[in-house]
Amino acid sequence: MDAHRAFARRMDRSDGLGHFRRRFFGVHDSAGTGETASVVAYLDGNSLGRPTLASIDRIGRFLTEAWGSRLIRGWNEDWMQLPLTIGDALGHAALGAAAGQTFVGDSTTVMLYKLARAAVDARVGGRRNGSATPRTEIVLDTDNFPTDRYVLEGIAAERGMTLRWIESDPSAGVTPAQVAAIVGPQTALVLLSHVAYRSGHLAELPEITRIAHAAGALVLWDLCHSAGSVPIELDAWGVDLAVGCTYKHLNGGPGSPAFGYVRADLQEVLAQPVQGWMGTEDVFAMGPEYVPATGIRRFMSGTPAIVGMLAMQDTIAMIEECGIDAVRGKSIALTEFTIALADEWLAPFGATIASPRDAARRGGHVTINHPAMREVTGRLWERDVIPDYRDPHGLRIGLSPLSTSFEETYLGMAAVRDTLKGVLLEQSGLA
Ligand SMILES: *Cc1c(COP(=O)(O)O)cnc(C)c1O
Repeated sequence: MDAHRAFARRMDRSDGLGHFRRRFFGVHDSAGTGETASVVAYLDGNSLGRPTLASIDRIGRFLTEAWGSRLIRGWNEDWMQLPLTIGDALGHAALGAAAGQTFVGDSTTVMLYKLARAAVDARVGGRRNGSATPRTEIVLDTDNFPTDRYVLEGIAAERGMTLRWIESDPSAGVTPAQVAAIVGPQTALVLLSHVAYRSGHLAELPEITRIAHAAGALVLWDLCHSAGSVPIELDAWGVDLAVGCTYKHLNGGPGSPAFGYVRADLQEVLAQPVQGWMGTEDVFAMGPEYVPATGIRRFMSGTPAIVGMLAMQDTIAMIEECGIDAVRGKSIALTEFTIALADEWLAPFGATIASPRDAARRGGHVTINHPAMREVTGRLWERDVIPDYRDPHGLRIGLSPLSTSFEETYLGMAAVRDTLKGVLLEQSGLA
């Protein structure tokens, strides 16, 4: 056994979070399920987390006991409150958000639209915060996730606003200096990602928020790749608005609904654009006109996706149990290990690390660039080693601290090495 594998085994033995891995389906040591490993290495939990055994049980029981037996009475019993109770639990475990500011509902895309649109509507015609000119600009960056850019393009067109683009380095991310240089009395909203989906760069969220606020703008943070992986203190950092996915590090399952955060003092000030009955004060009054609820409920629109929000509760509970700081500690150890293996095994083939080397500026995934990575990823998937691929030629290694072991990371990286070597040999005609 080589020294790296021995190191990985030692790390797994001393890993304080190691026992959580056995609570997931499809890992070779899942507790008492008698099943065999479904894959050799799953390195894409930041795109779609694995299911927990508790979620499989929870969903099964929900179908028979809740939906099957309580039938429509379920709405009066607890489903109506579920988007808010899960939001509060998530806020406590992973977002640093006091109760009453977070809810679950809609896709991330729709949630982004609702909160961004509410924010600019409050700022666009206004001369708030001493601004002498109307706030007609939205600040974003060229490397943000496509849906974030497209949603803001649509809002800018609807509202006659201008998008101001920060040209971010795809191997790094947006810096406070870049934000400071672009915001001003004309800025209505700044929308950025906390962890960049491509490079894994961890933005200096508190400092950027402070800079945006000093210019009188509101901030909307996209937490898709940080929620459940990186400690977040939305209340302490003075964040206005945030959204995030629940199917990534929160293991909510494919298409599980997003969460939204609206700071308490903004809730009565903002009006969201998708006015539906579920956001009204008295849902079953069914009155002639829309009267928004007080509090976070007013940001809801239609009937909440109850089935879709079942699984995330089990991961939120695990984070509450171990603490997000422990999750972050293991996340850093996993990404450091991955970078060390890439430096030793992949750099000789010309691969480069496209993620920050400073752990303090890096989220939970590592991107490794090489022109052959698209081909390499395709072959790895066939042999049950599952990383992700992002243009241009980035192999993305996602590490999920609750479900990924060091040995799994070792096996995945060894397969990347062997596959890259094989592809390059074939390309050079030597194979
Ligand atoms: C994954 C991700 C999304 C996904 O949005 P959906 O509406 O769930 O498809 C949006 N933004 C970022 C930054 C993401 O990483």
